[in-house]
Amino acid sequence: MAPDTSSPFKLALISMPWSIFNRPSIQLGTLKAFMEREMNCQVDAFHPYLDVANAISTETYRRISGNSWAGEALFAPLLFPEQKEKARELFFSVLSRKKPQVPDFDKLVSTIDKTCSIWIDSIKWNQYDLIGFSVCFNQLFPSLYAANQLKKTLPGVSVVFGGSSCTGQIGLSLLHHFPEIDYVVDGEGEKSLHSLCRTLNNRTSLSSKQNSVLRPGGLVEKTEEITDINELPYPDYKPYFQEMAQIFSKEPFIPTLPLEFSRGCWWNKCSFCNLNLQWERYRMKNAGRMEKETTHFMQQFECLNFSFTDNALPLKQADNYFKAIASKRIDISFFAEIRAIGQPERLKLYNQGGLSTVQVGVESLSNSLLQKMVKGTTVIDNIAVMKLCSENGIQVEGNLITEFPTTTEAEIQETLVNLEFVLPYHPLSPAAFFLGHGSPIHRDGRAFGISALLPHHKIKKLFPPHYHNSLEQLTKGYRGDRKLQHLLWKPVYQKIEQWQNFHDMRTDKKTAPLQYRDGGTFLIIRQEQPPGQPLQHRLRGLSRKIYLFCHTPQSISNILQQFKSLKEESLISFISELSQKRLMFRDNDKALSLAVHQTLQET
Ligand code: SF4
Repeated sequence: MAPDTSSPFKLALISMPWSIFNRPSIQLGTLKAFMEREMNCQVDAFHPYLDVANAISTETYRRISGNSWAGEALFAPLLFPEQKEKARELFFSVLSRKKPQVPDFDKLVSTIDKTCSIWIDSIKWNQYDLIGFSVCFNQLFPSLYAANQLKKTLPGVSVVFGGSSCTGQIGLSLLHHFPEIDYVVDGEGEKSLHSLCRTLNNRTSLSSKQNSVLRPGGLVEKTEEITDINELPYPDYKPYFQEMAQIFSKEPFIPTLPLEFSRGCWWNKCSFCNLNLQWERYRMKNAGRMEKETTHFMQQFECLNFSFTDNALPLKQADNYFKAIASKRIDISFFAEIRAIGQPERLKLYNQGGLSTVQVGVESLSNSLLQKMVKGTTVIDNIAVMKLCSENGIQVEGNLITEFPTTTEAEIQETLVNLEFVLPYHPLSPAAFFLGHGSPIHRDGRAFGISALLPHHKIKKLFPPHYHNSLEQLTKGYRGDRKLQHLLWKPVYQKIEQWQNFHDMRTDKKTAPLQYRDGGTFLIIRQEQPPGQPLQHRLRGLSRKIYLFCHTPQSISNILQQFKSLKEESLISFISELSQKRLMFRDNDKALSLAVHQTLQET
């Protein structure tokens, strides 16, 4: 085939604040590599969040980017000056509870405005055929602001929005309300963006087959996705590193690199979840490809910290992947989101392969709430994964969803009791329920007592009134039992705070608060409890054997089958006694030992 010597289509891709500053944007990296492979196209990727992080300090940036609303509130007055007071109110209300002192809102707005203006002025935008914004978590106001500024100086430039915050009706609604957006890519980016660029390059009009590219009055209908994501090129992170070297030349840092093992979620049933709206199907890369991709990035950029962007790791492929990484004997470290994994060997292998921190979808410590959430897990599964991760040196991060609609007093009591059993493990954070656009509860809220959908009260502080009822937003307000839930959950918030304080106050963080040492015929359990001296418990003979057997959740019938001489009555009484002491957990017909093996934890 003769080489294409015509001048390339020029595409600018932008990721605005509040992307995590020490990571390149995987969306920009993926699209740049794909577009440059598929057509005669030059893609320039821009990460102005680096400029903003440098201007306001990385510490302040980290704090703001960790909150869903604070960053949007800082850009709201730049787009709608009349919203400044309300945006300031929102900013302080979402950040004020945490130390250190909240930064000055007005000063931040002015610094951000100045920094973004300097950045916009530094680029010759009229060289681009299309300017694209990747709009995901916390990037809506910053992207609207930048698009608005660009259109003011260059009204003829074409602007496209895409990303998880522009899916379906929300994308259409953005198009209708903001003339600075010419197109929205709805759903997976690669093929739709390619199709749009080809059309603009050929100066033809969009065909009816391009309905995943929305334009005012367009239909919401998706074109096909990438069938096999193994065929995608590696994301191109070079522009991020070039910008970082320039902006942070005096204080260089070593970034964490994002990796994508899979798209979508193999479970995809949770009633509160809207994380998978942009995907039609669940797809994954194979372990070999993933390993090569990781090695490539490690060698190209000399980084050892990686973060999987997956909603839930694909377990079978992950088994082979971590096995291969473990065999390399390198000091690599991964963060990943997982569903509750109950197999100790698997967690051990993952940790040997570098998995150091996980976000586990625990969500609740009440069985009936877990059923309402359609998590497909039980409380004992959740406690087991917290214990097994702790034992295998994997830090667990995660949330407990609070104020879930229709929560009963009995479910609150169950949660409060079960919180006492997880005291030895790394504390979770409370996350108040929000109604995500497109989630099963949003689509049919009646079963959850939701009688009407309303504009979200925080969104109302950011947008002027004439947007409130017509603009579709990612987070919805609703009429239901919100006030009641807020009251009901107060004791849970207090108990979680006590849990966090217990861990903060511990001086020896290397040892687990509940651990055992095995003497072969007996074992000694050491149990820290607030307040006072640690307790010591000794289990001998059969008691020791039962305790070790319940390392993972075991049914009563399983235990009886294992220890044939054991009477059911004695077993139940043993488990009850140890549960009262918070050394075991019993959930219906299953039991779990709670102490972690000290020797394992030290290796
Ligand atoms: S919450 Fe997590 S596990 Fe549940 S459907 Fe969403 S992505 Fe999947």
